[in-house]
Amino acid sequence: MLLLVLALLALLAFLAAEYEEGRDQAALEADAGVLANDIRSGLLRNVQTLQSLHGLTSTEADWLAAATDILRQHREMVRLEWRDDAMSLRAWHDSPYIANLYDQMGRQDAAPSLRLACDNAERLSGPAFSTSYFWPLPGGHGLEMIEMCMPVVRAGQSLGYLVATYSLPGMLSELINRDLARGRGLTFTDADGTRLALYSAVPVRRRVQVAAQLIDLQGMTLVLRLESPRAVYSLFPNVLTAVVGVLSLSLLAVLGALARDIRRRQRAESELAQALAFRKAMEDSLVTGLRARDMEHRITYVNPAFCQMVGLTAEELIGSGLPAPWWPPELVDEYTQRQAVRLAGQSLPREGWESEFMRSDGTRFPVLIIEAPLIDARGVQTGWMSAILDLTEQRRVEELNRASQERLQATARLATMGEMASMLSHELNQPLAAISSYTTGADNLLDQAGTDSTAVPLEDLRQAIRRIGEQAERAGRVIRSVADFVRRRERVRETVNPATLFEDIAPLVQLQATRLDIRVRTHVAPGCPAVTCDRTMIEQVLLNLTRNGMQAMPPADPPLRSGLRVLTLSARLVRALAGADGISTGVRQWVELAVTDHGVGLAPDVAKKLFTPFFTTRAEGMGLGLSLCRTVVEQHGGALTHEPAQPRGTVFRFTLPAG
Ligand code: ADP
Repeated sequence: MLLLVLALLALLAFLAAEYEEGRDQAALEADAGVLANDIRSGLLRNVQTLQSLHGLTSTEADWLAAATDILRQHREMVRLEWRDDAMSLRAWHDSPYIANLYDQMGRQDAAPSLRLACDNAERLSGPAFSTSYFWPLPGGHGLEMIEMCMPVVRAGQSLGYLVATYSLPGMLSELINRDLARGRGLTFTDADGTRLALYSAVPVRRRVQVAAQLIDLQGMTLVLRLESPRAVYSLFPNVLTAVVGVLSLSLLAVLGALARDIRRRQRAESELAQALAFRKAMEDSLVTGLRARDMEHRITYVNPAFCQMVGLTAEELIGSGLPAPWWPPELVDEYTQRQAVRLAGQSLPREGWESEFMRSDGTRFPVLIIEAPLIDARGVQTGWMSAILDLTEQRRVEELNRASQERLQATARLATMGEMASMLSHELNQPLAAISSYTTGADNLLDQAGTDSTAVPLEDLRQAIRRIGEQAERAGRVIRSVADFVRRRERVRETVNPATLFEDIAPLVQLQATRLDIRVRTHVAPGCPAVTCDRTMIEQVLLNLTRNGMQAMPPADPPLRSGLRVLTLSARLVRALAGADGISTGVRQWVELAVTDHGVGLAPDVAKKLFTPFFTTRAEGMGLGLSLCRTVVEQHGGALTHEPAQPRGTVFRFTLPAG
C-alpha cells in the first residue's frame, strides 16, 4: 500500500517534471522561431534598404555617402560593394566598426563566394546568398562571413550588382530581439551541426534544452540554435514540480503519521486485549471466590470460583440482594444483624472473619471472608469487594494433620521403647555379668570350705555379697538413667572428680582385667578440675571404652612380658574456644578423659564405621557401645574422638565441661 503510494508519488513528480520540461521545450521552440523570424525579416528589411540605395543614387559619390550611412546603422554588414555587370568594382565601403578586415587576406580571396552569390542572384533574378566562409583576422581571430548579391536594375536597365558582406556574428547580435537571447545560448550552425557563429553560450557542464530553427536564405540554409540551461542541481526544476513534490512529501508525512497512529492504536488495543485476557484468566484460575456488592447489597460481580463454591450460576447470583442465597436459612437473622453491625463500623478487619455458607444442594461449608470497600475513580465508595476462601479443604487437612500427629507420637513412643530396650540390654550386661562373677566366686569359696563351717571365709563372702548388692544397685541406676536419657529429660547433672569416676568403675574393670592379665592404670593430671555430668551415664561410657580396649588385647596379643598389657585411664584439663570466633564467649574449660589400650588397633575400614549403630566385629558384640557413647558425650556438649596410640593400640578421648 505504502509502496504503491510511493510509486504513484514518484510517477506524479516525474510526470510533472516531464510536463514542465515539455512546456519549457515548447517555449524554447517558440522563442527560436521568433528569433529566426527576426533574422529573416531583418535581412529582408536590409534588402529593401539596399534596393533603395540604388533607387536614390546614380553616381558613385552619392552611393558611397549612402552606403557609409547604411554601414554605420547596420553593424551586421561589414562591406558594401557596387559592381558592374562584369563584376568589376565600381564603388565599395567597409564597415567603420571592423578595422583591418582585409589585412590578413585580400578581398580577392573571397571571390569564389562572391561569384557563387552573384550566380545565384542572376539565376533567381533577386537577392541571393553565398555559402558562409571563414575569414581570418589579425591576432588569430576570424569571422564567419556570407556574401549577399543582388542585381541592381533601375528603369529596366541593369546597373550591375550590389554585394553586401554579412558577418554571421553580426547578424546574430544585430537582427534579433536581445531579450529573448538573454541567459541562453544562441549560435548559427551549418546543416551538419558545426558551429559557425556564436552570440552567447550556456556555461559548460549544464544540462541544456535545445531548439533549432532553419533559416532558409536564397542559396544558403543556416541553422539557428537556441540553448536554454536547465536547473539540474535543484531537486525540483520549477514551481509545479516543487509544489507537487511538497504535496507528495506532506502526503507522505501524513501517511507516516497515520501509520504510526494506527500502530500505536493497534498496540494499545492488543495490550488492552492482553490485559483483559490476563485478568479473565486470573479471575477464572483463582480458587478464591470474588464477589462485589453495590451500596444496596446487590451482587454486581462474581467470579467462577465463587459460583462453584455456592453452586449457583453468575446469572442467578448477579442482582440478588439480602438475604443472600447462600445464607443457611436458620442463620439468616444472625447474619443480617451481623451485616448491619459490621457495615455500621468504619473499618473492616483486614484478617477477615469466618462464616458458614450453604451450597445450592443444602450442604454447609466454612468460609473465610475478607471484605474491602470498592472505591471508584472519583474516590466515592460504590460498594464492597469480598474475597471468600472455602475452608473445607483446610479443615480436612487440619483434621488429617491432627490424626497423623497422634500416630507419629505413638510411633515415637514405640521407637523410644525400642531404643531404651536396646540400651538397657547393652548396659545391663556389665552389672549382670559382674553379679554372676561374684556369685560364682562366692560359690567357689563355699565349695572350698566343704562341710566345715568354721573354714568358711566369712570376710570374703561378705565382701562378695556387698559387691553383688552394689552391682544390683548399679543396675537399678542404669535402668533409671537410661530411661531418663532416652526420654531426653533434663537429667540431674552433678559435679564429680575424674578420680572418683575412675574409682567407681574400678571393681568392674578390675574383674575383666584380671581375667585377661591386663594391668589397669589411672592417671589424673595435677590441677585437673571436676566435671559436670550425668554420672551414671559417663561411667557407662568409661566402662564401654575400657571394655572395648581390653577386648582389643586378647590373651596373647600383646605378649605377657612385653609390658604393653596395660590399659590407661587418664584425665587432664584442656582449654577450648567455645565460640567460633573465640572472642565473644571467651575461653571455656574442658576436661578430657582418655582410655588408651595397646591392643590390635583400628583397621581403616573399621574406623570408618565405628560409630554406626549395630556395627561390630565381634560375634557376641551388639555394635551399640560406641554409638551410645558418642550420643551421651555429645549430650554433655563434648566430643568423642579416637587416634592410634603409641607404640600400638588406640586412644579414645572425650571432653566434658569442667565443673
Ligand atoms: P561392640 O563392642 O558391641 O562390638 P562397639 O560399638 O563398642 O560395639 O564397637 C564396635 C567395633 O569397634 C568393635 O566390634 C571393634 O571391632 C571396634 N573397636 C572398638 N573399640 C576398639 C579398640 N579400642 N580397639 C580396636 N577395635 C575397637
